Amino acid sequence: MGYLKSTPDAQGFFGDYGGAELPPPLVPHFKEITEAYERLAHSAEFIRDLRYIRKHFQGRPTPVSYLRNLSDMCGGAQIYAKREDLNHTGAHKLNHCMAEALLAKFMGKTKLMAETGAGQHGVALATAAAYFGLECEIHMGEIDIAKEAPNVTRMKLLGAEVVPVGFGGRSLKEAVDSCFQSYVAQADTALFAIGSVVGPHPFPRMVRDFQHVVGIEAREQFLEMTGQLPDMVAACVGGGSNAMGIFAGFIDDEDVSLHGVEPMGTSSKLGDHAATITYGKDGMIHGFRTMVLEDENGDPAPVHTIASGLDYPGVGPEHAHLYRTGRVNYSAADDKEALDAFYKLSRHEGIIPALESSHAVAFAMREAKANPGKSILINLSGRGDKDIDYVTETFGFGES
Ligand SMILES: *Cc1c(COP(=O)(O)O)cnc(C)c1O
Repeated sequence: MGYLKSTPDAQGFFGDYGGAELPPPLVPHFKEITEAYERLAHSAEFIRDLRYIRKHFQGRPTPVSYLRNLSDMCGGAQIYAKREDLNHTGAHKLNHCMAEALLAKFMGKTKLMAETGAGQHGVALATAAAYFGLECEIHMGEIDIAKEAPNVTRMKLLGAEVVPVGFGGRSLKEAVDSCFQSYVAQADTALFAIGSVVGPHPFPRMVRDFQHVVGIEAREQFLEMTGQLPDMVAACVGGGSNAMGIFAGFIDDEDVSLHGVEPMGTSSKLGDHAATITYGKDGMIHGFRTMVLEDENGDPAPVHTIASGLDYPGVGPEHAHLYRTGRVNYSAADDKEALDAFYKLSRHEGIIPALESSHAVAFAMREAKANPGKSILINLSGRGDKDIDYVTETFGFGES
């Protein structure tokens, strides 16, 4: 049996990781979501609707581009990019948000709820809610609201209610807690749409399956372009959804090596990075078992990276599992390398990448030199329009 069919198990475990530890009132609701998903994953109507949306609303398939100039500059391997930056709303997140919204619709729910950090997930979910005529409630820390004003504006234009979260660190972690609390009170009519391959079962599996389209397309496109499979496939890892999406397409191809790239931030000191697999240990976070970065009290540690979408002290349980089994290699790129990659891809390929995706670009630039004659396919998870003001005001325009 192929990997994807056999993993996770019925309880949502990827080896030792995953599962669901929920407050008792939420147990029946997650059971309902699991059952609905299992039914709909085989429903011809659900699959047909999702195909239609991907083609006629999202603009899929997104292309694979050969990065000729960057490959020539780095010398060595040939670098290719799967262009999720060209997906509607500018990132891969809409792949799972549209599917989660369709699931909510089939379940008879009237509302979508989620937390958001930098606002990317909130915008994607608000987009999906608008498409389906569903209500949308997004919880966001006050600090993030102040930092990410354009995304708050987008969410409001799309018709979402943005709930400011003012306790604790007033950021992503508190937004998760606040959203969970609000969800408990309205789980009969709302679906909590988690924004990555994290959270309690069935979300890690469901979001992976919804992102699998990236890997399916990329494998077919790469074969058609080159007549071969890539030697290496790489993606940045925050929660890990864009990485699982592209990895899923190649996971049974044993000759293709898979690489997750974590954010090393400014240093390897706890608090300066968000490289959970590189430096973390086994633990629990937000209702599932995985690897986590913890402080001395065993609480989720503060994290830093230039890419706010990678800013999470945990990681999807499937990544922890694939790290332990050795099927995927994990390494890290720091803020400086990501920034250099951001400038180079902009200047030499005409593609302004998201700072998150720039970590995967940085990995490819580094590995290209060491792998002459090989090919590297990266998942370019999103476009960098959201990052241009921050980057140029803080760091200027880069060297030519
Ligand atoms: C949110 C985001 C990420 C990180 O999320 P994953 O679940 O790790 O993929 C990466 N890239 C972009 C462009 C994002 O918006």
